[in-house]
Amino acid sequence: MKKTLQNHHRASFSRNFSFKARGFDIQAPVFMPVGTRASVKGLGPDQVRSTGAQIVLGNTYHLHLHPGEDVVAAGGGLAEFTNWHGPMLTDSGGFQVFSLAGINKIADEGVWFTNPANGDEIFLSPEKSIQIQHQLGADIIMAFDDVVDLSAAGRSRTQEAFERTQLWLDRSIAEHRRLSKLSQAPPLLFGIVQGGLDKKLRLKSLEQVQASAVDGIAIGGLSVGETRDEMHEMLSFLAPCYDQSRPRYLMGVGHPVDLRFGIEQGIDMFDCVLPTRNARHGTGWISRSAFGDDSTDAKAAIFEYDVQINFKAERFKLDQSVIEPGCDCWTCMNGYTRSYIRHLLKVGEALGGQLLSIHNLRYLQRICEEYRG
Ligand SMILES: [Zn+2]
Repeated sequence: MKKTLQNHHRASFSRNFSFKARGFDIQAPVFMPVGTRASVKGLGPDQVRSTGAQIVLGNTYHLHLHPGEDVVAAGGGLAEFTNWHGPMLTDSGGFQVFSLAGINKIADEGVWFTNPANGDEIFLSPEKSIQIQHQLGADIIMAFDDVVDLSAAGRSRTQEAFERTQLWLDRSIAEHRRLSKLSQAPPLLFGIVQGGLDKKLRLKSLEQVQASAVDGIAIGGLSVGETRDEMHEMLSFLAPCYDQSRPRYLMGVGHPVDLRFGIEQGIDMFDCVLPTRNARHGTGWISRSAFGDDSTDAKAAIFEYDVQINFKAERFKLDQSVIEPGCDCWTCMNGYTRSYIRHLLKVGEALGGQLLSIHNLRYLQRICEEYRG
C-alpha cells in the first residue's frame, strides 16, 4: 500500500504492481488508450507512445466486422498491423454486441446478432470470441460474458446472465487452453466480474473469477450510466477482496477523478475513449494548480484536483498560453496555444482534436505515474 502526497488524506489500496504479457513488462497503474478500429482516433502510434502509453486496446467486435481477423493476422497481428509494436489488449466483443448490435437470440451456445453494416446475421460464442482474439494476436485477451443492463433487466434475466457468464468463463478458459497449446507465445486471459450494483452478486462473481484459471481480474459493467458515487461505493466494497497476485482491470473508466479513485481502490489498469472523444469535442483536463484561482469560472467543471474545460469557449480566443502551463505533453511542450487550438476546434480542423487528444492522454498517464512513484 502506498500513499501519495496529493492524496495523503484518503485511505489507499494503491500499489506498484508489474506483470509480464508475452515478454512485455507492464508497470501499473496504467491507462490504456482505446484504438477501437485499430487506431487511437486521429493519432499515430508514435504520438500515442509520446503520451507514456504502455498498452493500446482494440475492440474485437469492430475488428471482426472490419477488416476481419484474417486481414489483421495476415498483417502480422494487431501490433504489427497497426505499427504500434507494443503490447495490446482486446476485449471479448461482448459489450459491443449487447450494447450496439441488434440481438436476435441469446442462448447458452452464444449470441446471434445482426451486422449493422449489411444486415448479415453473425454468431458469437465464448469459443468464437477467444478464437478471434487469438487470431487478432493481442497480448491480453478477455473472456466472453453475458452483459445485462441491470437497470432494465428483470430478476430472472439478471440471474440467467450471471449463471451464463460463469458457464462462458469456463468455456473461454477451455478454448484459450486449447489454442495456447498451438501457440509459441500465448496471450494472457482475463476473466470479467459482473453483478451491476448488487454487492452480493458482485462478490460472488469476483470469487468465481478469482477461483478460475485466469491471469487477471477485470471489473466490467461499471461506468455504464450509474452515478459516480454508486461506482465509487462498489469499488470501495471490492477493494479488500482482490487477490494480490493478479492484475486488476477496471473496464471503460477514464475520467481523472475516477482514475485517481480507482487506483486508490487497488485497480491497476484502465481504458476509456473519454480522453480522445472529449478532445474531439473540445474538452480537455488541466490540473487545479494550473487553473489558478479562477474558481469563479462557471463554465469549467472543477473537481478536487482536476478541472475540465471546453477549449472552444470565447475566452480562449486570444489566450496565448499552452493548454496547461507546465505540462510535459508533446502539444504543450511544442507551444501550441489555446488561441490556435480553439480556432482549429471551432472550424472543425482535425488537428485541434489531435493536439488536445495528446494532452488529455498525457494528463491521465501523469496521474498513473504519480502513483507509480
Ligand atoms: Zn499538455
